[in-house]
Amino acid sequence: MIVMKFGGTSVGSPEMLERVANIVKKNLDRNPVLVLSAMSGVTDMLIRGTKQAEIGDMQGYLETHKKLKEKHLSTINVLMGNEKDLIAEISKFMDSLLNIWKAIEVLGEVTPRAMDAITSFGEKMNVRIFASYLNKLGIKARYFDADSFIVTSRNFGNACPIEKHTRKELEKLVMPSMREGAIPVITGFIGKTPEGLTTTLGRGGSDLTATFLGSLLGAKEVWIWTDVNGVMTADPKIVKNARPIKELSFIEVTELSYYGAKVMHPRSLLPVMEKGIPVRILNTFNPDFNGTLITKTPVENKDVVKSITYIKDLVLLNVTGRGMLGVPGIAARVFKTAWEKGANVLMISQSSSEQNICFVVRKEEAQNLVDALKNEFELEILHRDIEGVEKIDNVAIISVVGAGMRGTPGIAGRIFTITGKNGINVIAISQGSSEYNISFVVSGNLVEKAVQILHKELIEEQ
Ligand code: ADP
Ligand code: ASP
Ligand code: MG
Repeated sequence: MIVMKFGGTSVGSPEMLERVANIVKKNLDRNPVLVLSAMSGVTDMLIRGTKQAEIGDMQGYLETHKKLKEKHLSTINVLMGNEKDLIAEISKFMDSLLNIWKAIEVLGEVTPRAMDAITSFGEKMNVRIFASYLNKLGIKARYFDADSFIVTSRNFGNACPIEKHTRKELEKLVMPSMREGAIPVITGFIGKTPEGLTTTLGRGGSDLTATFLGSLLGAKEVWIWTDVNGVMTADPKIVKNARPIKELSFIEVTELSYYGAKVMHPRSLLPVMEKGIPVRILNTFNPDFNGTLITKTPVENKDVVKSITYIKDLVLLNVTGRGMLGVPGIAARVFKTAWEKGANVLMISQSSSEQNICFVVRKEEAQNLVDALKNEFELEILHRDIEGVEKIDNVAIISVVGAGMRGTPGIAGRIFTITGKNGINVIAISQGSSEYNISFVVSGNLVEKAVQILHKELIEEQ
């Protein structure tokens, strides 16, 4: 059995759904279990409409609602014509979405819990459409909403699926359908709390749904179908010479996705890593291409640097002060405050003089955290032990990744010679002890240029 996940662009239009059906047809003998994202753009639209409702922009959310409805109903129309039951079902989702948005407009507020319930609609509508379409083509299929059987932690917006609690429900609900020969078409991205409230696994979370189910079902492989030829040497949207990488290890892809390669959700390899289930990244637009195979053992090859990634829209925070020298607990208090404010610290660097702790967070989380830190260190700031919390806006992290970098001397030297030669100022540097990546911070305005130059010199001319 193979778990196959199709991402947003792979299921973004009637033509794409046709393509996906052809891929499924070709692989029937592999007993596919399908995991589907929402149609492309739909999750964004659901979030946008909810925010429009929250600020009372009725015209805005009505327009968003109209677009969403048209997108789904026209897809049904093109694929299946006047499929009455399905149209009624999708219309029911759209009616309840409008009611929720009206309620949010009145309340003027949206909770993370409500946001998850709303964003789950995209995947739910799509599995209904695709399962009906497969049945219409004579391929027996059944849709499943993962918020009826994937049990997760309670952190809405970024929940974690829990194997122990899901296993029984999966066996009760999905397995019988498989035994009857119906292909399960399962919503990616969503789950439920132990109490039964809908959660989501974070943006791009359908990858995690696929690997999680692959692990629970003991799949032979997990195939992630997307819109590029595999994991590439850089984001093809900004580096035109980026090329697909034939094989990578779980650790390398985890590092890549953690540092911005959107092609996989950063936590998605954890479930399969433990069991050693191989993952393939394949291109729905080019289905005969081999793509990237991701396995346990780092693949030895001549390429020391395998890929260059970046994350934009970040802020660098600097806690500085001479009074920090030798005072225990400052770092602990800095990161405890970040944790309390729910800010995800993406990179840390501390100078050995201990006079400075510098770290990077996302733009949306920065101001809140600065205020909290000033509050936490009020006394130290008053006594001048800490000078303050400095904030540098609009920075980006660039990460150079490759298992072969471990133990290969001179990589850092080469990276910073290239940046220096090209006038790219490096604001902070960090290298994990795994030595699988070297990450550094540059001004947000320079990130694309820097990635392109590094790719050229470290990968294309390697
Ligand atoms: P899906 O909707 O299929 O989940 P995503 O948009 O989430 O697809 O991920 C695929 C996108 O990831 C690609 O279109 C590409 O622009 C981007 N990407 C960024 N870095 C990389 C990389 N190193 N390799 C491949 N794709 C990358
Ligand atoms: N539809 C969700 C998103 O856009 C999940 C996914 O596509 O993986 O983030
Ligand atoms: Mg994705």
